[in-house]
Amino acid sequence: MKKPVLTIVVPCYNEEDVFQETARQLTAVLQNLQTEHLIAPESKLLFVDDGSRDRTWSLIVEESKKNPFVTGVKLSRNFGHQRALLAGLEAAKEYSDCVISIDADLQDDVRVIREFVVKYWEGFDIVYGVRRSRETDTFFKRATAQGFYRLMKKIGIHLVYNHADFRLMSKRALEELSRYGEANVFLRGIVPLLGFRSTEVFYDRKERFAGESKYPLKKMLAFAFDGMTSFSVAPIRFITLIGFLSFLLSSVAGIYALIVKLLGHAQSGWTSLMISIWLIGGLLLMSMGLIGEYIGKIYQEVKRRPRFTIEENLYNNTQQKERVNV
Ligand code: UDP
Ligand code: MG
Repeated sequence: MKKPVLTIVVPCYNEEDVFQETARQLTAVLQNLQTEHLIAPESKLLFVDDGSRDRTWSLIVEESKKNPFVTGVKLSRNFGHQRALLAGLEAAKEYSDCVISIDADLQDDVRVIREFVVKYWEGFDIVYGVRRSRETDTFFKRATAQGFYRLMKKIGIHLVYNHADFRLMSKRALEELSRYGEANVFLRGIVPLLGFRSTEVFYDRKERFAGESKYPLKKMLAFAFDGMTSFSVAPIRFITLIGFLSFLLSSVAGIYALIVKLLGHAQSGWTSLMISIWLIGGLLLMSMGLIGEYIGKIYQEVKRRPRFTIEENLYNNTQQKERVNV
């Protein structure tokens, strides 16, 4: 087999604190892989600047001038982690045989990248990095994440347990991924749907090297909710079920009320009336909200807006230059 061109895609949002260290460690990884003849010399580190407001982009540009491995793509504004990642994957796919995605904060163990590549040589199209334990996460993050996986499984969404966006994908897997044109990008849900031969590699997740999490609770909840409603109509079914049950219950109550009335000792049931009005009102509002959520999704999807916009692309420039030189 020909040595594959590997591109490591790193989404960065306000990562000036970690950028240099990340670039250093990943460069070392690429160098080692090259000396081992596991990857082609054209392999690259592709940093995607997701509209950072700090010095991240200028650091990327500077680094790309002195480090031949480093290159970058700048998005025109903050599009969020998933779309930034997608932008990187789409850009990298053209010139690479396989692409690895990893977060900028070095929480994922860069040493397992070698294992990813070995698996690629063995013929796997998708290699998932799976966290062995979540000891370094805060208790809160751990609990919410576990709850999330459990819930997703319940409603029928297949996710790889404890796998974030640290994975290798082959060119043909990426090409398939491009055909999933949805605006609500939830890569962890889409990638298992691609099929192909896939495997898992285990590693220990570390603390963030520096800087702080770009996923505060609000974003995390939004992410979980998006993941759920983009992949499953189970929540809508659940609402239908509740509606049906409450209908049954109120029919029984209605019959009871009728019997009481016929027997002649009907007390004007003010309490029960009020309770049921509130109950039904609440149920209705809840169902409408949930259905509205899906309609909102449909609205977003039918607009077919571009999912990201690239403002500057060092990667294409360098690749084209290198091609001319070859
Ligand atoms: N990120 C991004 N755009 C955003 C938020 C985050 O590109 O809007 C990147 C961030 O720079 C990092 C990765 O996504 O490389 C994961 O973010 P973070 O480490 O903050 O998330 P956590 O590990 O806390 O879930
Ligand atoms: Mg992180």
